[in-house]
Amino acid sequence: MQAKITSFWEWQQHFADEKSCLQAIINLRWPEGFCCPRCGHQKGWLLQTRHVYECAVCHHHTSVTAGTLFHNTKLPLVKWFWSLYWVSSDKGSISALRLTKLIGVSWLTAQRLLRKLRTAMGDQNNLYKLSGIIEFDDAFIGGKRAGKRGRGAAGKTTILVACEHNDGKPGFVAMKVVEQVTHESVRAFAQQTLAPGQTLHTDALAALNVLAEEHHHIAKVTPPEMASEWLPWVHVVISNLKSYLLGTYHGVSGNYVQEYLDEFCYRLNRRFWENQIPNRLLTLCVTHDPVFLQPATCS
Ligand SMILES: [Zn+2]
Repeated sequence: MQAKITSFWEWQQHFADEKSCLQAIINLRWPEGFCCPRCGHQKGWLLQTRHVYECAVCHHHTSVTAGTLFHNTKLPLVKWFWSLYWVSSDKGSISALRLTKLIGVSWLTAQRLLRKLRTAMGDQNNLYKLSGIIEFDDAFIGGKRAGKRGRGAAGKTTILVACEHNDGKPGFVAMKVVEQVTHESVRAFAQQTLAPGQTLHTDALAALNVLAEEHHHIAKVTPPEMASEWLPWVHVVISNLKSYLLGTYHGVSGNYVQEYLDEFCYRLNRRFWENQIPNRLLTLCVTHDPVFLQPATCS
């Protein structure tokens, strides 16, 4: 099944009921075939309504979804599976409000489902360190009024953005919400997302000078009309981010912005194998630890 399904029609046909979703999770969790953790026997049967696999010999019950992102879910798995396809297959993604209408759940349930998916995406993003020539910049998103850089940007959220500059095209991208662009926030973001010793292009904002501690930092003061020549890809990416947030979510602000950034980067960084993203996200859901949602914070 891996990487074969490209349309929602096929996805929907393949994961049409609870049993087929459970079987997909079993196949991903136990690729060599199910093995009872108590007695080691390999035969048993699925108790579909309880999401458990019962051993044919010792009758031990093994939860199929425990320890995954679907841990303790009360939602039918079909709703999860269809939702993760929509999240991963469309550049515009899907809002909680739209998901509410499509799968018949409350807004809060839809939002929690999406937040869990975005948390897993963010964790997956964090495994990769950007390298090579990297464009590095800050940006402001959300809010209704234009604001000054660094301060006074009422209602806006400050983010740091790093984008690989590969042979005239953008590579991997990382983004982080920060309270302010300071030496500390820049250093922390760089250490989390960049491999050491890379070549960084910036626009010479003073707070970015700390990048020279671990990287070859090239800072150029650029007037706005020239900025797209020195930092072309990071600006394209920021522009695409703003369109995505406005188009799908009609703008965002507050505590959940980082989760939206995580989702945006996850899809963007996998755009060259777009057809595989739903399957990859499904595998991530099965291999990821359970997510117990906490209220999000700003940084
Ligand atoms: Zn057993």
